[in-house]
Amino acid sequence: MEPNVTADQLSTVTYQLFSDYHTHPQGHRVQPYTQGLLQPWADSARNIALSDIAFTDHDRYHAGIDFDEIDRLQERNSDLKIRAGIELDNDPVHSAAGRKWIEQHWNKLDFVLGLVHFLDRADQMFDSVPDGAAQFEGRDVDTIYHDYFRRVREMAATGLVDCLAHLDLVKIHGHRPGAEIGAIVNETLDFIRARNLAIELSTAGWRKPVDELYPGDRIIELAIQKGIPFTTASDAHSHAQLGDSYPRLAPKMASFGIRQVCIFDKHQRSMRGVCAEPLL
Ligand SMILES: [Zn+2]
Ligand SMILES: [Zn+2]
Repeated sequence: MEPNVTADQLSTVTYQLFSDYHTHPQGHRVQPYTQGLLQPWADSARNIALSDIAFTDHDRYHAGIDFDEIDRLQERNSDLKIRAGIELDNDPVHSAAGRKWIEQHWNKLDFVLGLVHFLDRADQMFDSVPDGAAQFEGRDVDTIYHDYFRRVREMAATGLVDCLAHLDLVKIHGHRPGAEIGAIVNETLDFIRARNLAIELSTAGWRKPVDELYPGDRIIELAIQKGIPFTTASDAHSHAQLGDSYPRLAPKMASFGIRQVCIFDKHQRSMRGVCAEPLL
């Protein structure tokens, strides 16, 4: 057992966030994996003292993913851990093929992120900024939240994901439910725990209109109570964005007493400390 450490004590401990498990080397088009595409990500990781990164391109660009190129990159950068991953969307057009690809390549993948980008409209992600905000116009926000989290549970139920990404993405444009968020999300968190999945702490929310970490404080609190583990993630779409806002994330984690994050190797999860000094 680790000794009890107060948040105050933790604020004096140096955090060293070492992992980023949400990255998009291809950005938003198919760009086949090559050393030229991937090496800058390894360089960026090293530059900001990350030692463990996962590539998690969108499933609709799975054609660009090349496991041999990831292996070569790993060989050339043996000081880093480089994980082969993908993110599975609930895209009504493309994700059926994505699911199939993930099933076929499951044994080569270290890590699969699951997430929900689509509500009722098949032709537009609700998190498009600013256009996606139109999907909320004139509608009851609580109803949208319940619908969103139902879709998150569906994603968790696929059995094809290790971790849920940006769990409360539905807040992206700043719409807040009337009901207490804990009451809305509780069932989903229980489901995630029962499925033994992780969730990410994603700094991407700080780059969006809502300007808030994904997930928000109350959800983090509940996840900790339920024993759900976290990854750290930037959702970088460029190697320059890797580990984005980690200096801001570290004190946030300290304030919650989070001292470990999870890493994945062929879907096997293990925990690693994020405090640079031995614990008090
Ligand atoms: Zn993207
Ligand atoms: Zn992403």
